Amino acid sequence: MNKNDEFIVEIEDMSVEGAGIGHFEGMTYFIKDAVVGDKIKAAVTKMKKGYGFARLVEVIEPSQYRVKARCPVAKQCGGCQVQSLSYEKQLELKHRKVRENLIRIGGFDVDFVDEVMNPVVGMDEPFRYRNKAQYPIGLDRDGNIIAGFYGARSHNVVPIDDCLIGIQENKDILQIVISHMKKYNIMPYEEATGKGLVRHVLIRKGFKTGEIMVCIIINGNNMPGINELTKALSSIEGMTSVSLNINKERTNRILGEKVKTIWGQPYITDYIGDVAFQISPLSFYQVNPVQTEKLYGLALEYANLTGNEVVWDLYCGIGTISLFLAQKAKQVYGVEIVPDAIEDAKRNASINNIENATFMVGKAEEVLPAAYDGHSNGGFASQSDSKSGGVEFIRNIHQLNERVTIDATSKTPDVIVVDPPRKGCDEKCLETMIQMQPNRIVYVSCDSATLCRDLKYLCANGYELKTVTPVDQFCHSMHVESVCLIERVTE
Ligand code: SAH
Repeated sequence: MNKNDEFIVEIEDMSVEGAGIGHFEGMTYFIKDAVVGDKIKAAVTKMKKGYGFARLVEVIEPSQYRVKARCPVAKQCGGCQVQSLSYEKQLELKHRKVRENLIRIGGFDVDFVDEVMNPVVGMDEPFRYRNKAQYPIGLDRDGNIIAGFYGARSHNVVPIDDCLIGIQENKDILQIVISHMKKYNIMPYEEATGKGLVRHVLIRKGFKTGEIMVCIIINGNNMPGINELTKALSSIEGMTSVSLNINKERTNRILGEKVKTIWGQPYITDYIGDVAFQISPLSFYQVNPVQTEKLYGLALEYANLTGNEVVWDLYCGIGTISLFLAQKAKQVYGVEIVPDAIEDAKRNASINNIENATFMVGKAEEVLPAAYDGHSNGGFASQSDSKSGGVEFIRNIHQLNERVTIDATSKTPDVIVVDPPRKGCDEKCLETMIQMQPNRIVYVSCDSATLCRDLKYLCANGYELKTVTPVDQFCHSMHVESVCLIERVTE
């Protein structure tokens, strides 16, 4: 087959990128915009060894799962990959993905998998769920200022001011910013030349509090007529924080390091469960707060805390899970590699008056063994404290030097929670978890392939998989989060 050759194919599955998968003459094809169950005419766009890419030319018989995408630019925009697939079918495919990985990568028995797996926890209304949006600002062909999103695999701005997975207020905010730019002749930043001022508009909303933040990312130090702009923005209900972020670098990175608050507070507040979080333009925060609460609620349920437990929360980010668990545990230790996230975690503990959560900067695979062995390891030095029987960590990571005292009970936690990035847990981390022999491990995962690899390891070393629940955090994409309970086998 060559480029532009056409063929008729039935779509049997969907890829992790949301493309339809079909077979023709022994080859696998990935076909954007086709959905499972469709019979289509496709045209080859690129051939590789053993597989190819094709585009959808014509739907011959639409799939029973095909729905009309609600968003007018669903096809061009790189954000939602499977809006044309019914939400029920999206959830079913996500379930199937996790199930297949448990069998294929985890090596678990089919019947066992069907016993431990729960249906995907979906959303009642899978739109308007994102609390954060970062709109690039650009020019259209006629030179009009537009806000939108980058097209799939490109940096062309596809104009859309009302993304349907984002909040309703985005539209009004963007219109205020754009009409201000027009009035003051302010140009959008242009990647090709590095000229122009306004790069992006970042908008965040606390779903529980209604507080809204707008941060305008500029290629300069100031914005003409800023007081007039903030006055207009402050008329939007819930507006709490308006800031400028300075990014003069010629880079793909959206945010620079410097933020100037120009109106209101430097942060907005939101709640997950009863725990308050202060969110600034640079802080990390989960983007689907409704589903996050369900996910962490399950993590808490699986941790089965009574108030007497010692818990490690590895890969803790800003401490969301740690603080959620601390309310029901004796002591929580959180470990995270990004120092700023740990600063946020500590501040979040303090605004909630949570005193039984200790946060440490470092790699989980270094901090945990150091706690377990009680001696120097990977950037840590420690000394015994004979009085408390505890261990004192002297940290020296990322030029941070701070003393953290952890109790000897940290070596024998009751529960370990992990929420690693896509690459999963480091083997050294898993090995130490097993040595510590917690009764329960709660594994929160954003990649079911690495999750199943790690489950296989844990289950070959004295642990047993009890429950797997996928949770849909990113509706209309093929990403799926899962939370699992793994228990120590006791004879
Ligand atoms: N539970 C967190 C989010 C976890 S996302 C929350 O709710 O905020 C995964 C986190 O792991 C990220 O914050 C990332 O910075 C961190 N991370 C990545 N590699 C790590 C490592 N080796 N050790 C510790 N943390 C790591």
